[in-house]
Amino acid sequence: MKAIRIHQTGGPEALRYEDAPTPQPAAGEALVRLRAIGVNFIDVYFRTGLYKADPPFTPGMEGAGVVEATGSGVTHVKPGDRVAYAMCRGSYAEYACVPAWQLVPLPGELSFEQGAAAMLQGMTAHYLARATYELRPGDTCLVHAAAGGVGLLLVQIAKICGARVIGTAGTAQKAALAKSFGADEVILYNEQDFASEVRRLTGGAGVDVVYDSVGAATFEKSVESLRPRGMMVSYGNASGAVPPVAPLLLSQKGSLFLTRPTLAHYCAGRDELEMRSGEVLGWIAEGRLRLTMENSYALADAAQAHRDLEARKTVGKVLLKP
Ligand code: NDP
Repeated sequence: MKAIRIHQTGGPEALRYEDAPTPQPAAGEALVRLRAIGVNFIDVYFRTGLYKADPPFTPGMEGAGVVEATGSGVTHVKPGDRVAYAMCRGSYAEYACVPAWQLVPLPGELSFEQGAAAMLQGMTAHYLARATYELRPGDTCLVHAAAGGVGLLLVQIAKICGARVIGTAGTAQKAALAKSFGADEVILYNEQDFASEVRRLTGGAGVDVVYDSVGAATFEKSVESLRPRGMMVSYGNASGAVPPVAPLLLSQKGSLFLTRPTLAHYCAGRDELEMRSGEVLGWIAEGRLRLTMENSYALADAAQAHRDLEARKTVGKVLLKP
């Protein structure tokens, strides 16, 4: 089969399109013939070496396709099933072996592209808004990179929860997109001091929660944007990892809460996976949650997909087609 392989971590050129052996499913695994592959910022962290994997490896944590074969003891799926999944590395390929418990059925009305666009970023937006800080009517949240993959989904889920959403975005076009997906206000954080803007927009109060995926570049001002006893949710490092933080800072800035969550701990078993993916895929099927999939590339062009994602040229979901 064809696959993207990383022999040495580094820039986008580290993503090599090669022949690789088709994997065989072990006990408890299913072999999935991938029809659409989700690109996520976490793939960049593995490619650069910020997150560790032993080379050579195939990156990619998300995909949708058809079950081709199953290993022994598999009960969740059978050959021919349309499925989608997230958080199992190796999806930048024509085939991938995935623990069967991580596969969810793709509803008939959803395309493979929608499945591959929804799972990782959709379940992330879901746990952030429904579990890490459970948004309720009357709450105000700040969503950074609101026109990004997670961003556009989080904006919509926050609105489903009844919250007021203040977004940030890098360009006026992205700000307009985030607004068209429901953001109440969007701050151009490259041009404006977003912490002062948040204070102005909240009458000096600050927001209840900040969902910060940008990391090093925004952490400090995100903390400045919170109300006393608000929650700082640092869930990504698109601009670099956040440096160490002294607990005393949280006291000085208003007895704040700080958490650094990750999807794996909010999708810890089959029940939670079914609950989260079921709600996300159901909302998409009902038309309550919209996806943008303008940035689609051939699998062979994975390096270009990474270049564009890192250069902040993409909006919504980035996909690869095997
Ligand atoms: P996005 O589509 O959001 O792309 C990243 C966006 O971040 C860019 O478009 C850009 O938007 C903004 N950005 C700001 N500064 C930079 C920078 N220096 N370099 C690149 N981008 C920058 O990606 P994803 O939706 O895939 O992921 C978003 C974030 O969420 C990532 O940090 C990722 O690691 C994190 N994440 C965390 C998960 C978890 O469970 N903890 C799970 C899934 C994702 P703009 O131009 O508007 O500034």
